[in-house]
Amino acid sequence: MRNRFVIGNWKLNGSLVSNGLLLNTLKTGFGPAIAGKTCVVCVPTPYLSQAQTELIGSGIEWGSQDVSCMEIGAYTGEVSAGMVAEFGAKFAIIGHSERRAVFGDTDAMVASKFGSALKSGLVPVLCVGESLAERESGKTQEVIWRQLHATIETHGIKSLSLGVLAYEPVWAIGTGKTATPGQADEVHAFLRGKIRELNLEVGENLSILYGGSVKKSNAVELFAKPDIDGGLIGGASLVAEEFLGIWNAL
Ligand code: PEP
Repeated sequence: MRNRFVIGNWKLNGSLVSNGLLLNTLKTGFGPAIAGKTCVVCVPTPYLSQAQTELIGSGIEWGSQDVSCMEIGAYTGEVSAGMVAEFGAKFAIIGHSERRAVFGDTDAMVASKFGSALKSGLVPVLCVGESLAERESGKTQEVIWRQLHATIETHGIKSLSLGVLAYEPVWAIGTGKTATPGQADEVHAFLRGKIRELNLEVGENLSILYGGSVKKSNAVELFAKPDIDGGLIGGASLVAEEFLGIWNAL
């Protein structure tokens, strides 16, 4: 049985006051821990300390939305994986499409960040996904495999077993358009199949999450698919009732 996850990505949202309310509502509604299932919130870096204070002992984990490729030195504005880990974080989103599209993260940088996260003991949540134009021109598989392969080439296939993979079609992120459960599962099965060809055990055991306008109203159907092991949740992770609804669907 593969591990299952619901991971919230708060993006550039929140304040000390609003986070306090959200985290407390999540804690109250979370319920007892469930073996094999993990709930995570990935907060803006300045709020890692708040997440640690609020969530410690709650059963809910916390993480960052990125880490630097660099460990230490004259890299103004960067935040290292080691710094993130100092705040008790266990997870780091790597290669989110907004990082790739807006901030120029290349496949090579994403691979490097994946390695930095592992080195500091974080679980990298590696995101891959195609744009609408790429999907419409039949390039989905080529694009997502290229994105993933950079990390496999750099760190070896077995490194994937220390992380989590997230398939996030760019056209479904923040748009309200969700891939149908069938469309998502087909891509997940493709990814798992390719990974299995390289290492059967890694392919079998890797958790592959779907991200793209997941809500409590569509989570049950998505999570019922055999190759979908949970979700990476953007907008709905900012609304406690939605996020808890998605968690309960896992
Ligand atoms: C995301 O940002 O990873 C995401 C999936 O966003 P949304 O759920 O808002 O589409």
